[in-house]
Amino acid sequence: MNLALVLLLAATPIPQMLHQIDAHHAEKTVRTLVSFGTRNTLSSQDDPKRGIGAAREWLYQQFQEIAKTSGGRMTVELQTFEQQPGKYQRITKPTKVTNVVATLRGTQPESVERIYVISGHYDSMCTSPTDAQCDAPGADDDASGVAAVLESARVMAPHKFNATIVFMAVAGEEQGLVGSTYFAEQAKQKNWNLDAMFTNDIVGNGTNTLRVFSEGIPTSETAEEARIRRTVGGENDGPSRQLARYIVAVAKQYLPEFRVWMIYRRDRYLRSGDHVPFLEQGYPAVRFTEPNEDYRHQHQNVRVENAVQYGDLPEFDRFGYIANVARVNTAALASLALAPARPKEVHILTTRLTNDTDLEWQSNPEPDFDHYEIVWRDTTEPAWTRAKPIGRETKYTAKEMSKDNHLFGVRSVSRDGFKSPVSYPTPVRRQPSAQPTTGEVPQPALRDELIAMGTVDQEVRKRWIADQANPALKEETRLIDEKHVARLREIIKEYGWPGKSMVGPKAANDAWLIAQHGGKEFLHETLPLMKAAVEKGDLPGGSYALSVDRTRIQDGLKQIYGSQFDTKGDKCEPLPLEDPEHVDERRKAVGLEPLADYAKVLCELYKKKP
Ligand SMILES: [Zn+2]
Repeated sequence: MNLALVLLLAATPIPQMLHQIDAHHAEKTVRTLVSFGTRNTLSSQDDPKRGIGAAREWLYQQFQEIAKTSGGRMTVELQTFEQQPGKYQRITKPTKVTNVVATLRGTQPESVERIYVISGHYDSMCTSPTDAQCDAPGADDDASGVAAVLESARVMAPHKFNATIVFMAVAGEEQGLVGSTYFAEQAKQKNWNLDAMFTNDIVGNGTNTLRVFSEGIPTSETAEEARIRRTVGGENDGPSRQLARYIVAVAKQYLPEFRVWMIYRRDRYLRSGDHVPFLEQGYPAVRFTEPNEDYRHQHQNVRVENAVQYGDLPEFDRFGYIANVARVNTAALASLALAPARPKEVHILTTRLTNDTDLEWQSNPEPDFDHYEIVWRDTTEPAWTRAKPIGRETKYTAKEMSKDNHLFGVRSVSRDGFKSPVSYPTPVRRQPSAQPTTGEVPQPALRDELIAMGTVDQEVRKRWIADQANPALKEETRLIDEKHVARLREIIKEYGWPGKSMVGPKAANDAWLIAQHGGKEFLHETLPLMKAAVEKGDLPGGSYALSVDRTRIQDGLKQIYGSQFDTKGDKCEPLPLEDPEHVDERRKAVGLEPLADYAKVLCELYKKKP
């Protein structure tokens, strides 16, 4: 181990947390959960001694005790809903299902909305999944997973992380992933930025190997994404696969004696788990499971047959192993939550036929972000083998390294050396940004961010214009605009209007462009800021004139400069115009070309005659 690495490790809380993880605590959790007799989701909700309700209350108390050590950052809630019969075969009557959810809020404003979820399921079953009376100790499946989650929560709660971590024990897994499905659907509805999910399920019996299951092709892949993948590959590089690689690398760093074994599939044959509903919602997720499952001790009535003990009993768990599983989870979660976000909108540019590889992406906003790293490997290699730090620029050209012969990725690195998972690029047909992303401006990071936003804005619109009847492209454009406006609002609040003197001409124009697509209310809000910018020479007068027209048309008034066109159906003509005879004079006064010239360019873009 070299000196730099030693210093880095000493500066993080991770070794201390791993040291505090305790096999005896894990054992106590497993034995207490087993003591409730059964935790079948259909069992008693209110018996204080037996059934899932007793287990739920005990877990709720445990998390609340842990939250007391968090300085107010951890909150605990019971996420309860009534599942009606019909959707799940194993739910035969209206059934109350409760997830116990402890949220440790992040402390960095730029990262707090980025969420990591770690989960185990506290329900259990005997041979029959709908038998609520039989003993179902569920020591391995899945008191072991819940024990790992509680240990992670216990050692992490006193520490501060940039991003938010959710520690969760779910119910209804054995009835068909009922609790986790509800949680994942709620997350999607609330538009959460859920960056990764781990499920720990059957992690009680092993020695020094833990399997991590990850899918290569996303469950949520769209037809368009599939088409691109068939063309240029990437079947081994979905976000969940990148997450699994990340976990393996972190575990190697902090637990060199313990092996995290990558399994290239979503889950085992004939089985599924609580990560799957997250994958269905488009969130990266992986499953941890012991390496050699013993089916005599899963989903079996407790009994002795031909001198063989059946049933999921605590004597078949190894509590030291569960502690190591908790260590893997904790090291990975802490690294993720202390690192900057994965680079977004990472693209490989494909316009040029060249043996160089051009990559571009959006800049990271975190104050502790330090630099980017390019990673690459041979197309037949299973994991990233080479990495190169490249500074803060949001583009990179790999000279004499063909995109046809290598796989590339980008990750972000914090000042303290915490790395994000790798973002795998999608191909985009465009030239490398003409605007250099370096140069002397007061806010270079903001400039890079605005340029990246402007590129995305134009890229999606070009695709939409080419395929105007496509509702998916319309929706994609709407979502991008919404995101951009939210960010531009924050930028204005922090810096004021981002004009030429702050971010350079290209980025200033991109900020203006985003405001144009941000809706009536936002445009009205920003119009006075733009006017002030024009007066300072920070924004061209023509840009301001276009914005004026836009708000007038939106307000049902005639436009002044003729910048707004009706492109419905076969039409391409100016919308109602005030005093049309003198429009070119007004246009000239603010630096705009004659209306006929403008119409020609615009209507050509829409593939129509003026
Ligand atoms: Zn299970």
